[in-house]
Amino acid sequence: MTAATTTLIIDTADLASLVAVAMQRDAEQFVLWHPKFNHVDAEIRHDLARRHSSIFGAERFVVTQLNASPLPSTPADTWWTQSELLVHGLGIASRLGCSRVIWPHQVGSDFADVSPVVDRATLISGLCPSPDGMETVIIDLPLLDLTDDQIIDLADDSGADLSLHWPCEHAGETPCGSCQRCRRWVDAFERVGPTWPWAAMTAV
Ligand SMILES: [Zn+2]
Repeated sequence: MTAATTTLIIDTADLASLVAVAMQRDAEQFVLWHPKFNHVDAEIRHDLARRHSSIFGAERFVVTQLNASPLPSTPADTWWTQSELLVHGLGIASRLGCSRVIWPHQVGSDFADVSPVVDRATLISGLCPSPDGMETVIIDLPLLDLTDDQIIDLADDSGADLSLHWPCEHAGETPCGSCQRCRRWVDAFERVGPTWPWAAMTAV
């Protein structure tokens, strides 16, 4: 690993990850890390993250299989999922010489949702040494308090192909458009304006 690499981006192949990687393409070199969960859509997300790595010029693409739930349903479950994610990500960052981790996690503007994630990132960061062992690895959360509409605006402005993400709970040729996750994003795309990226493919 060259000394020029200082940033690791966590890419789960959701829309916020696509925004974060697209925004990074003209900045410093970066490592793209894909945490792979045990879920039906794992191979689809893996393939999308690999394409992000290629299209946006990551210096290196790293994949790690995790055991945590990709769809945490309780606060405790969320705590463990996010903590496992961050500990693995920080460990890889430290080993590859990255002093900064971009975690494009997004929860919206409600302080009650934002605060525990910031606290968790600060806590986990404090536990993990940096590559030089002197300071902690910084975790950036640039999209944390944005709304879904704002994420779509950024994605649209980035010029990225908006179909290069996976909003769905299921696996298929295209996102189903009707599960809870899909409905959230279908509604947001309708509000903001860009066409649902798979509209042409799903129309009969
Ligand atoms: Zn779906």
